[in-house]
Amino acid sequence: MRRALWLLLLCAVTVGIAWALMRLGGTVEVRVGDTFIGLDLPILLVALAVLFLVLHTLLATVRWVRGWPARMRARREARNREKGEAALTRALVALAAGTADTAVLEIRRARTLLGDKPQVLLLTAEAERLSGSEEGAAEAFRALSEREDARFLGLRGLLRQAIQKQDWVIAKQLAREAEAAQPGTAWLREERTLLAQKTQDWREALALAGPQAPRAPLALAAARQERDPVNAAELERQAFQADPAFSPAAIAHALRLKAAGSDRKARSVLEQGWAAAPHPDIAVAYLSNETDPLTRVKMAEQLVHTTRNHPESRLLLARTALAASLTGRARQELEALVADGTADARAYLLLVELEQEEHGDSAVGRAAEAKWLRAATAAPSEPRWRCGHCGKVHAEWVPVCDGCGTPGEVRWQPGPAQILPKA
Ligand SMILES: [Zn+2]
Repeated sequence: MRRALWLLLLCAVTVGIAWALMRLGGTVEVRVGDTFIGLDLPILLVALAVLFLVLHTLLATVRWVRGWPARMRARREARNREKGEAALTRALVALAAGTADTAVLEIRRARTLLGDKPQVLLLTAEAERLSGSEEGAAEAFRALSEREDARFLGLRGLLRQAIQKQDWVIAKQLAREAEAAQPGTAWLREERTLLAQKTQDWREALALAGPQAPRAPLALAAARQERDPVNAAELERQAFQADPAFSPAAIAHALRLKAAGSDRKARSVLEQGWAAAPHPDIAVAYLSNETDPLTRVKMAEQLVHTTRNHPESRLLLARTALAASLTGRARQELEALVADGTADARAYLLLVELEQEEHGDSAVGRAAEAKWLRAATAAPSEPRWRCGHCGKVHAEWVPVCDGCGTPGEVRWQPGPAQILPKA
């Protein structure tokens, strides 16, 4: 309505101006050399208006014709986008349904129509993996990793493939690149920890270990790899402080202190280790330099004074007492173990030795020996370093199981059915 009013007003003004010009009259003369043109003013004005309209139309036509290819392109792109998005949806449905061939076909169509967009490349990789083509997936991940905005996505895919192929060297390199692309990712930290363990790079595993991770075994494993004795000593100290109950760390730390001439500190470390978790190897290290049987008994008493009733403490006291021919003392400890049901095969075998020492080759001795030998075969076996994954027994603690290659699973475990009471 308003537009119609404006048009009416414009017409009225135009007619008014034309009428005023008619009333005004007059001519315009143009002289070029000898040629003379004379025109009435209204006719000239009308001619100029017509000329303007013609030129304007001409220019608009030229612009329209020149814009033709771009408009066609835009239309084609819009059509492709529509088709591409439809193919993408079909690919998603096929992926969800697990029909790999359809997914690959549709995602390839979408890729042709939409180009190498991150979501298209990611779905390409998924579809290729579903169809069993790891190389096709790797190609898509590589294309992703070359894009600035989706670099992490591509590297993540390639890293997963490398881990699956157990190509640890490539995987570590990819993990480093991914860390640079997206620092501080929780997922990446876990993967890097796993890679450090797989490649037995214990220093890196220790650096990546979270607050919940067992730091003592990692630090000790790193110390064993360390060539510089100063660094190794520091790592052993860290291992012992992280967990004094981890006996290999306590022993390694103590041996290092002893080698440096600090005998008293070394003994104190072993005593702390024993107090945290009595372990026969600690006793071996503690008594290693002493040969006098009676002094060994005294030293054993000093070592176990905070865990007097622990089965390992009783066993140690019994063994040292027996070696010093203090048979009454040894019997007292061993019978206490039998009485509270914590005697394992070692305790019964010590009782056999004890009977031989006390009774020699007599009928009483032989009867007692036979009794304890029977008990030994029925008793739980002694605790050992055992892999929690495959069950292989190791003579000493190792960071990786020799049998199955699993890291962090070799632990000091009691023999079957053995019950350990509180110290
Ligand atoms: Zn194993």
